[in-house]
Amino acid sequence: MIDPATALSDVNARIAQAARIAGRKAEEITLIAVSKTHPAEAIAPLIEAGQRVFGENRVQEAEAKWPALRDAHGAIQLHLVGQLQSNKAEEAVRLFDCIHSLDRPSLVTALAKAMDKAGRQVPCFIQVNIGAEEQKGGCAIADLPALLGEARSAALPIVGLMCVPPADIEPAPFFALLDKLARDHGLAGRSMGMSSDYETAVMLGATHVRVGSALFGGRT
Ligand SMILES: *Cc1c(COP(=O)(O)O)cnc(C)c1O
Repeated sequence: MIDPATALSDVNARIAQAARIAGRKAEEITLIAVSKTHPAEAIAPLIEAGQRVFGENRVQEAEAKWPALRDAHGAIQLHLVGQLQSNKAEEAVRLFDCIHSLDRPSLVTALAKAMDKAGRQVPCFIQVNIGAEEQKGGCAIADLPALLGEARSAALPIVGLMCVPPADIEPAPFFALLDKLARDHGLAGRSMGMSSDYETAVMLGATHVRVGSALFGGRT
């Protein structure tokens, strides 16, 4: 069991160090503590240690955990980092402050409708299937311009691109590619980097790193 406050300060120090090496400011990078599968008792100590931005990958799990945590601890920014079904768009828009998994036209439509209905604009990242993996979420690189066009026509607030590179391969080229795609499309946000590679991602331009196990320990 890692001590949450120690884990948090270690991750923050590593982010700051990677940023310094790359000539960036640590404040340019948002650490999202990915708390999926972990119970409220494991999350509370991290909030008490000062962490205010969290990520979940399932709407239902987040709905079960976060209203009470928010009541107990005040303002928390909650990011959805997992795949989103169109029929959960309304719940997602109500619960989350940012969505990292916009990856198809049907979801553009569902989210635009849900944001209209809720009267609430939730910033979105477009998830790119950066390694062209069959089983993985994210839009194909070739489909990105069209999807971005649709999202912009629907007036969705698109803030950047997100990726999860293929497992067990050096991730740096994929981070560099996501950074290039974001630049090509005039997008400031790059959501990339997890526990095993967030320092590399920071050096290659990440603005949001999504870190789970390095903060909470392993998931069962
Ligand atoms: C679980 C998850 C993370 C965090 O993974 P760790 O390896 O535990 O840091 C980041 N991004 C997404 C999309 C995830 O599903």
